[in-house]
Amino acid sequence: MEYTKHQYIGGKWVAGKGTKRQIINPANESLIVEVQEASREQTEEAVKAARQAFETSSWPAEVQRRVNSLHQLADLLEIKAEQFAAAETTNTGKPIRESRLDIHDTVTCLRYYADLASSRKPWEKEMHDGTTSKVMEEPIGVCALIVPWNFPLLLGIWKIAPALIAGNTVVFKPSEITPVSALMLTELIDQCDFPAGVFNLVLGTGQPVGETLVSHPDVDKVSFTGGSETGRKVNEQCARSFKRVSLELGGKSPLIVLEDADIEAAVEWSVFGAFFNQGQVCVASSRVLVHQSIYHRFLDRLLIKLQQVKLGDPRDEETEMGPVISAVHQAKIEKYIELGKEEGAVLLHGGERQGETGYYLTPAVFTEVSQHMRILQEEIFGPVVTIQAFTSDNEAIELANGTVYGLAAGVLSQDTERAERIASRLKAGTIWINSYHTPYVEAPWGGYKQSGIGRELGPQGLSGFTEVKHVNVSN
Ligand code: NAD
Repeated sequence: MEYTKHQYIGGKWVAGKGTKRQIINPANESLIVEVQEASREQTEEAVKAARQAFETSSWPAEVQRRVNSLHQLADLLEIKAEQFAAAETTNTGKPIRESRLDIHDTVTCLRYYADLASSRKPWEKEMHDGTTSKVMEEPIGVCALIVPWNFPLLLGIWKIAPALIAGNTVVFKPSEITPVSALMLTELIDQCDFPAGVFNLVLGTGQPVGETLVSHPDVDKVSFTGGSETGRKVNEQCARSFKRVSLELGGKSPLIVLEDADIEAAVEWSVFGAFFNQGQVCVASSRVLVHQSIYHRFLDRLLIKLQQVKLGDPRDEETEMGPVISAVHQAKIEKYIELGKEEGAVLLHGGERQGETGYYLTPAVFTEVSQHMRILQEEIFGPVVTIQAFTSDNEAIELANGTVYGLAAGVLSQDTERAERIASRLKAGTIWINSYHTPYVEAPWGGYKQSGIGRELGPQGLSGFTEVKHVNVSN
């Protein structure tokens, strides 16, 4: 990477005046790049540039231009897909096959929103009193888009694509530890037909950059993805001025394995659900609930399967698990593993460091857990899963719903009607029956309870970036 300027404000690359930060490859602890982040003043300049573009450019009014620009960006991204995948793997440690999937989904998301916007029409109806009502969706204005480090580009595009296609202007802030793909994306945006100031990039931490965005009076909407504690602060700050806000937060998602489930498939889905991206996924199935009658058989197969999981260099095509994101995060996960043992749970497998360099942890499995334990209630966001037994559907549902979170859940059974009955009683925004993890760009994504407010993806994801206006005409 040869970037010398790391902020993109008002259509120009600008050298940061904030903190210098070394961006580290978690697989080998080598330096990828040193960036200089934005200062508070530069963050304010980015908001100003977005405001000016919203007020003075033709962007909010020209749907076709927005559609063309998003397709243009998707085309460029598609050409560079392999470079983006490699960069994402270097910065996050995720296996290269997963990074390729992220880039593919990123392109799909851009095209989906471009096509959705071109087919949307205002609602119009003659009312009972002879008047005519029209309902249209308008852009909100300046949107601050803040994302975490686990899917840096994909989660960014889940916001950037609907925000821009709706006619808003944006300031995008990636996580301070994963700015690489955001810089690369911005380079492509710079080559597309976006008016200056429509898209702005600022790098930095929550303080000062994130907080400046969230509290800025000229930001009309904050779309935030991250931890529930940070989300709480963001929500409180936005509430002061009734700023529009959507929050995609943490989870502690259950995967329910019924007694009639195919046991080999159940083990596969459990490992994939819990350890995909090293368990650093908001919807990770970090709690597996298994029917008592197959509990021991399930555990035996799970242990065999875990011996086969390939943990190693994320650039290797065969690798299934890479390192976790950072030394700090590795230590946090290890603390939870110690806590689990102190709480009386049994560490059946894993939880150990692997290799001389890189932040590797072997997949950890806890049994003999009870519902009140912190390892079962709190989001660990790493390769740690708890396994519980249940004896009835009612008990499974009660355990599954028994945390403050409600992001996702899974049910495995050969009886899909029974699984759907269970799904109807689960308090979660996404429920997979006989699969796990796949986000579908056409379907909403988001949380019940403390897992968030609002939805991304699908038409709902676009509505999150619009104000609704009703115009009633009497002749
Ligand atoms: P985090 O909350 O620490 O940070 C998220 C982002 O917010 C980062 O860009 C960070 O710099 C910024 N930030 C921090 N403090 C801020 C503040 N006061 N004001 C504004 N911005 C601030 O989360 P993280 O550790 O980067 O990511 C992990 C979390 O993200 C997990 O809890 C995970 O479940 C959640 N997540 C949720 C989803 C979802 O779709 N629901 C998806 C991915 C990750």
